Amino acid sequence: TTPAAPNFLRHIIEADLKADRFQAKRWAGVPGPASVQAGGQPDPARIRTRFPPEPNGYLHIGHAKSICLNFGLARDYGGTCHLRFDDTNPEKEDQEYVDAIIEAVRWLGFDWKASDGAEQLYFASDYFDYMYDFAQALIRAGHAYVDQQSAEEIRANRGTLTEPGSNSPWRGRPVQESLDLLEEMRDGKHPDGSLVLRARIDMGSPNINLRDPVLYRVRHATHHRTGNKWCIYPMYSWAHPVEDALEGITHSICTLEFEDQRPFYDWTLARLAELGKLAQPLPHQYEFARLNLSYVVTSKRKLLQLVREGYVDGWDDPRMPTLFGMRRRGYPASAIRLFCDRTGVSKSDSRIDYSLLEAAVRDELDPVAPRSVAVLQPLKLVITNYPEGQVETCTAPRNPHDPAQGQREFPLSRELWIEQDDFREEPPKKYFRLFPGNLVRLKYGYVVRCTGCTKDADGNVVEVQAEYLPETRSGTPGADSVKVKGNITWISAAHAVAAQIHLYDRLFADPHPDGGDKDFLAALNPDSRRTVQAWIEPGTDLASGATWQFERLGYFVADSRTSTPQAPVINRVVTLKDSWGQ
Ligand code: ATP
Ligand code: MG
Ligand code: MG
Repeated sequence: TTPAAPNFLRHIIEADLKADRFQAKRWAGVPGPASVQAGGQPDPARIRTRFPPEPNGYLHIGHAKSICLNFGLARDYGGTCHLRFDDTNPEKEDQEYVDAIIEAVRWLGFDWKASDGAEQLYFASDYFDYMYDFAQALIRAGHAYVDQQSAEEIRANRGTLTEPGSNSPWRGRPVQESLDLLEEMRDGKHPDGSLVLRARIDMGSPNINLRDPVLYRVRHATHHRTGNKWCIYPMYSWAHPVEDALEGITHSICTLEFEDQRPFYDWTLARLAELGKLAQPLPHQYEFARLNLSYVVTSKRKLLQLVREGYVDGWDDPRMPTLFGMRRRGYPASAIRLFCDRTGVSKSDSRIDYSLLEAAVRDELDPVAPRSVAVLQPLKLVITNYPEGQVETCTAPRNPHDPAQGQREFPLSRELWIEQDDFREEPPKKYFRLFPGNLVRLKYGYVVRCTGCTKDADGNVVEVQAEYLPETRSGTPGADSVKVKGNITWISAAHAVAAQIHLYDRLFADPHPDGGDKDFLAALNPDSRRTVQAWIEPGTDLASGATWQFERLGYFVADSRTSTPQAPVINRVVTLKDSWGQ
């Protein structure tokens, strides 16, 4: 593998390591999650990053960008990347998503082990006791208060970008009263939406995120891990810095939308450090541009709608931009990593063309994928001078780039399947394939001369006839005795294996399906999946889940859900060339 291209985050990390910024007494004398202390204490000089998904949906290609970035930096700089579930919104979260996310990150090729081998898998919900304790400390120090304005009042009093906010009438509430109310909130004595805990910062701040942001709200909801233990849940902006600090994260890498949250992130950490709750050095937040891909939506809400309303066949439909969809489609994990590396890390938003992802898939598959042949739109070719009942074996390289894969063998006989497109009764200009009188090579077989065709009552060609030139067999001295311009693929009809093949196109026809206030469903491509009944070369390895190339047609994989040895179902991973936009 080639070394990763430099980017601003790598520069920051290299400078931090050079300055020995992490040689501190991390966790000395302050509480930290027992699991972190057990697993992570001994390597203070290393960087720690984290990938913090919320378990409320399946991972998609945008998450892959963040995974490759965070785990990649930890790998390249001898650090550790934590997998942390940001499970602070009980209503939408579920164990099903936790399991799926773990599986997807593993599939992508990463693990969350520290240098001593200890697993660094965390749940924000494991820190709820710390968050509660820290919130009490903030109240005691005058940095937080319980507000009983309604949600509408809080919103109205927040001000705007140009107008300062106004103080809540409860901002001056005595410390003890706030402490008591927070306890009552925790003990379930107040209904949802009645009280919130807010930081006391500055209602006049030009940054709206510093206008006394909410830290806790009441939610009588069952959590998939903590059950009914809690009925107050921390807001993301409060939970996130606490989670990072407790885990000793050094570089907390977010997408650009969180840039305006950074001052509150720093405020939170600074106050908790002053109060002796956290040790130096504190984590730093950095922002990079999220991945936007043309022809793709990555909003969890929209993906969920596609699944729920049946526009696709589930989260792992091969057209979905989810990692499970891409896995089922036959995209190698290595291609997704390559794509994430190639598209780099930037500080300004842009849109990456989908064809770059497909190019990475081809680049990964071409050197390794074994070759085979399929006929998608079959037409019978009869070699009239080939003896009936005779069968001979032809050979071809499994992969021309990799001689170590050896040769494959397949039968030739009198009746073959060829593509309808490989015959024209009236050839257009520069057409070198079969037409009456023309010579063509049956790839890896013989040169044949087309002698005619048979049509049905409607004038459709239903059979083509040809004669073979016995001295021209591939691999024999006479192979080149007759020069031809056309080379076609074929399968012996008596030996061909029937298969259903799904040919995919972009799920959306519009390059910006979620732009502006567009109806993204109206942008769906009605032809995103075409299914053909095809013939494939006998011996194509359908069982292993491996990916192969059908010559001239692209890369293919047996569908992991629906394919059986008796009734193969095959997905096209990607075409051989970029044909989009032609
Ligand atoms: P939602 O769709 O609910 O807004 P999300 O996209 O923020 O959720 P999370 O599960 O919170 O999803 O994401 C986990 C991590 O993946 C976050 O750190 C987030 O920044 C990152 N991430 C999500 N989408 C992208 C993207 N398109 N490009 C880069 N990183 C992303
Ligand atoms: Mg999120
Ligand atoms: Mg999102």
